Amino acid sequence: MPTTSDIRDLSAGAQAAIAAAADLRALEELRVRYLGRKGALTEKLKSIGALAAEERRAYGRQLNQLKKEIQRQLQNRRAALQEDERAAGIARDAVDVTLPGRGAAPGGVHPVSRTLARMEEIFVRLGFAVADGPELEDDFHNFTALNIPPGHPARAMHDTFYAHPPSCGLLLRTHTSPVQVRYMQNHKPPLRVIAPGRVYRCDSDLTHTPMFHQVEGLVVDEDTSFADLKGVLVHFARAFFERDLEVRFRPSFFPFTEPSAEVDISCVFCRKGCRVCGHSGWLEVLGCGMVHPAVLGHVNIDSERFLGYAFGMGVERLAMLRYGVDDLRVFFDNDLSFLRRFR
Ligand SMILES: [Zn+2]
Repeated sequence: MPTTSDIRDLSAGAQAAIAAAADLRALEELRVRYLGRKGALTEKLKSIGALAAEERRAYGRQLNQLKKEIQRQLQNRRAALQEDERAAGIARDAVDVTLPGRGAAPGGVHPVSRTLARMEEIFVRLGFAVADGPELEDDFHNFTALNIPPGHPARAMHDTFYAHPPSCGLLLRTHTSPVQVRYMQNHKPPLRVIAPGRVYRCDSDLTHTPMFHQVEGLVVDEDTSFADLKGVLVHFARAFFERDLEVRFRPSFFPFTEPSAEVDISCVFCRKGCRVCGHSGWLEVLGCGMVHPAVLGHVNIDSERFLGYAFGMGVERLAMLRYGVDDLRVFFDNDLSFLRRFR
């Protein structure tokens, strides 16, 4: 038999539960618990039929009021929860327009590119043109024209990357000298040119990588000399390292120059000898010489009338000396903590 106190308990319970509902799902569960087909209030309404007619009316009115009250509370609580959810969404997606923008991360020029640019700049100021050529070369331009005939030990010494099949006769250039050969084929002397670029050899250790960069220079003129060559290289070494270095020339051999010399500079790290210079006080930095008459002959330049000199140096070697780097391979590891130091 339902009583008025039952209705009060039901009302108080529903009101507390609705006020405590944490989200819309919990609220929906409460709606089903009280007003659903098997809900607490619905069960009470069903039980009215068992009452006497005069009680039925009063009790029914109370239950219907309670039903409306619960519906009203559910609706209010739903509106409040929806508002909370909307506010939370806005807070979650909020953009703080007062924060400074992220912008683009500043990049830096790679130390090898930076060194190349520096070398080019020095030679351009001395009147040299800058020439470019293919990295996949043929045998003639890389070897034969440079007085390195088939079977010459220099071909083995270079330990070259040949393209497949070998019959195609192509290889990755082992030096940038073929650019000079092409330049001499396409230009009439006097010539004054450098050829900077990538070269390839089967080599890998602390001071060698299979790919590295060279700058080679060539001058062909009627009245040039070894003295001019010395003047240019001494100027270059001092300009590049920005100090008054000692420079020495040691006799050497290259197939494409005669006479030939290796060039050393006084050590940039010490005065009396250190690990880098092998305690000699000298650092070998490049090779050079007067262009061999046979090389001029290969490109139809009259070696009775014209003289030439040539030089070649490794860009990474100079970058290592300039920046005090002792492992060549770090230039190609793409380690940002290393590269960021050059920004
Ligand atoms: Zn030293």
